[in-house]
Amino acid sequence: MRPQDNDDPLADARRLMIEEIRDMAEETGDYAARPISERVLAVMARVPRHRFVPEGETWSAYYNHPLSIGYGQTISQPYIVALMTDLLRLGENDTVLEVGTGSGYQAAILAELAGRVYSIEIVAPLAERAAKLLRELGYANVEVKTGDGHAGWPEHAPFDAIIVTAAPDEVPQALIAQLKPGGRMVIPVGEGWFAQELMLITKDSDGVSHRKDILPVRFVPLTGGQ
Ligand code: SAM
Repeated sequence: MRPQDNDDPLADARRLMIEEIRDMAEETGDYAARPISERVLAVMARVPRHRFVPEGETWSAYYNHPLSIGYGQTISQPYIVALMTDLLRLGENDTVLEVGTGSGYQAAILAELAGRVYSIEIVAPLAERAAKLLRELGYANVEVKTGDGHAGWPEHAPFDAIIVTAAPDEVPQALIAQLKPGGRMVIPVGEGWFAQELMLITKDSDGVSHRKDILPVRFVPLTGGQ
């Protein structure tokens, strides 16, 4: 599905952002054991990231760094969005769970690549704003709810892929349980700002999960979990 307002004046800014992502992927090494796929980069070259950032940040939206979205939260750096999305290896009919809707940008990228996206955000005004924007942009295959993502979304489980965009101290067990055999989860894990690792968790056909460290990262904490 494609958003309706893919305005051309910013197409060049998006192309430059894609070049920066490619450069950074080369500099930082081949963490994903392959280059970031052209399918992911093509989607990022057309989703209007500037619509997901505060007014007045239109051009900054396409720089390769995170930005504040209010409520002490951030929209992730484009390179990290690309890497995490690529690690999920989404198929067009996949059902995906996102924990940490934030601005809704990552959800839009997922919606372009997969069949159905369920996204949970703990800060109600962020969830409401993201849901409204995603609707306005025509993403009919995304559902956003306010809640604590520690519990996952059992009504729609199991998921082909799960992406968590805030860092817990440990991987929530409910999320592992809601991953399909053969499924993939990408999640930053670790206590504190300086000790987080982006992890890829895969579940094999026997239901056994395997963890792989991808790279050190800095995400806001996954709150809640009481
Ligand atoms: N994916 C977002 C985007 O594209 O803008 C970026 C997310 S931001 C780095 C992390 C988000 O996770 C914040 O909006 C935060 O409120 C949310 N969050 C933190 N703890 C959460 C929890 N337990 N359940 C759901 N969302 C949570």
